[in-house]
Amino acid sequence: MRDYKRILVSAALPYANGPLHIGHLAGCYIPADIYVRYQRAQKRDVKFVGGSDEHGVPITIRAMKEGVSPQEIVDKYHAIIKGSLEKMDISFDIYSRTSNKIHHQTAADFFKKLYDDGLFEEKETEQYYDEKAKTFLADRYIIGTCPICANPNAYGDQCEKCGSSLSPEQLINPRSTLSDATPVKRKTKHWYFPLQDYEPWLKEWILDEHKEWKNNVYGQCKSWLDNGLQSRAMTRDSNWGIKVPLPDAEGKVLYVWFDAPIGYISATKELTDQWADYWCSKDTKLVHFIGKDNIVFHCIIFPAMLKAHGNFVLPDNVPANEFLNLEGDKISTSRNWAVWVDEYINEFPGMQDSLRYVLTANAPETKDNDFTWKDFQDRNNSELLAIFGNFVNRTFVLMHKLTKGKVPPFHNEIADQKDRDLMASIERSKPIVEQAIEEYKFREALYEVIDLARKGNKYLQEKEPWKKAQGTSDKAQGTSDKEHLSSKTEGISEEAQQLIDNSLHLCLQLTANLTILINPFLPSTAKKMLHMMKVVDKMLDWENAGKLKLLSVGYSLRAPELLFRKVEDEEIKTQIEKLKGKPKETVMNADINSQQTNNQPVLKPTIQYEDFAKLDLRIGTIIAAEKVEKADKLLKLEIDLGFEKRTVVSGIALHFKPEDIVGKQVTVVANLAPRKMRGIESNGMILMAEDEGGQLKFINPDEKTTNGAAVS
Ligand SMILES: [Zn+2]
Repeated sequence: MRDYKRILVSAALPYANGPLHIGHLAGCYIPADIYVRYQRAQKRDVKFVGGSDEHGVPITIRAMKEGVSPQEIVDKYHAIIKGSLEKMDISFDIYSRTSNKIHHQTAADFFKKLYDDGLFEEKETEQYYDEKAKTFLADRYIIGTCPICANPNAYGDQCEKCGSSLSPEQLINPRSTLSDATPVKRKTKHWYFPLQDYEPWLKEWILDEHKEWKNNVYGQCKSWLDNGLQSRAMTRDSNWGIKVPLPDAEGKVLYVWFDAPIGYISATKELTDQWADYWCSKDTKLVHFIGKDNIVFHCIIFPAMLKAHGNFVLPDNVPANEFLNLEGDKISTSRNWAVWVDEYINEFPGMQDSLRYVLTANAPETKDNDFTWKDFQDRNNSELLAIFGNFVNRTFVLMHKLTKGKVPPFHNEIADQKDRDLMASIERSKPIVEQAIEEYKFREALYEVIDLARKGNKYLQEKEPWKKAQGTSDKAQGTSDKEHLSSKTEGISEEAQQLIDNSLHLCLQLTANLTILINPFLPSTAKKMLHMMKVVDKMLDWENAGKLKLLSVGYSLRAPELLFRKVEDEEIKTQIEKLKGKPKETVMNADINSQQTNNQPVLKPTIQYEDFAKLDLRIGTIIAAEKVEKADKLLKLEIDLGFEKRTVVSGIALHFKPEDIVGKQVTVVANLAPRKMRGIESNGMILMAEDEGGQLKFINPDEKTTNGAAVS
């Protein structure tokens, strides 16, 4: 391993056209954060950069579909993504965005340098054009059948099913995603980067010099290189993105995969004036954390760009993860088959570490893995809570009960083999965790930490300090010796107290060690533990791991806090139902209930979404209204529902005059079984709100809308 002076860590730029899901967290943000927190604890010079990727076709498509500007889309999702990352304690030194000016300038300069050096091929080619939408169709504007796996919905740049990188010309039966039209070919000019020129160098750099890269990464690179590289267009016809910095390039922007990785450089520039140390100095270790769908861009295309530019360092490693599936199926934004991070945080407040734990313990480091809610519950309850949390809690409770809430002394002369074994385990853990993290094996590292806690539990179980206290209390009661150690408890023999002291002393030193070791993985848990031990952050320095004298004898510690809570079956059931298309009504009701005071009304019993979905609610306009003979309260209304006109009898005559309500829009329960009232058949019901004074108000849209519009 080379000796580096500083480390620059990047995590993939999330695409700002949707919120973050657990696949993103498991793919790169949590592993990157573990690595960075560990390096910080090692007191190494490390910077962690990232930001939102705000250009490219999917954003313009989304904007078009939602009828808003691309800027509105990226503003919205940048805020959501940034918030989710913060709440999951992903500790970026900077989380920027590619729509920032500094990035536009940096990316344009990068392009211009390659252009001035004559490294692009300028080519006029025929490309697919949508005559209906009047636009060229690159990348995701065009879909068709994948020539490799026959997936009928492969994109013009990539097949998401088999992971192949494609060009639009390779698609079978191409069609436009904008209009569904079959596209025609038209001439357009673009700038191509001749990747094949870098093939010999890439082969040497990756295949010979980076054999240590993860198998999945190395393997994907090898297959790309074995298949041969081709020129790739680095510009696109679009108005959203970074304008091509050339005079004859109106309506052309940089290809999003040209500009996005340069975002790491721009973010570093934004972070520090010393940015060049991190990007241009050979003693920087650059590490890109990404998901497997980004391997080709970070291992082949971006390094080739960096090499061509000449001023920048190349990545030392690209520890990409495979995909995380959900309940046996691929995570899909369009099918809403995902666990969204912002929703998780709302529904499991204060439990970011439980999710960090499960996504690390079950990380798709070497192959695709599956997240299930059952596994989440099992790992939280039977590993995090039952092993780690339980050990720390028992240690603190016993320390308060048996050693007066203070760190007891360790009596070396009576130490036995079990004590020595535990001390050896504590000392051994540090290099094991360290090596695993350095090698990007975060599952293995975390397993070692939990295993150390497991050893602590086993030790405590064998030592049974609580029994020592009971077993000797009778014998000790008669003694008049009041000169015991500061930690000595009333009525316990000297010998028994020494045994208690030794076991709790070691368990407390182990707790301190666990705090240091767990900190990169579960930072908010480590913080709670520091608070319980009344020690400062400095104790988290990695050099302290493996030490047996972290807590001073006689030091009094706080009462235990519960580090984790149990996840109940009901919560898991709710999540699974929600995934399968049911909204979170139980969660919403729980919120309402918890806020209820004595003055508040009692709600009707909870219904399931299916119950609600049975209602067909429509907007209609009252086109006629008259009093019903011999019925003071009833009005006979004619309502235009757009597709038909209805007669509805409504008990609102005491509140409204017929002539005042004609023309009003109302909400109608359109599928209520007909009912006869005073000889008139009523087909439906209109919704009204009633205030405390018994006044009725119509429920209608805040602006006029089409009759027949469905309400849901
Ligand atoms: Zn395919």
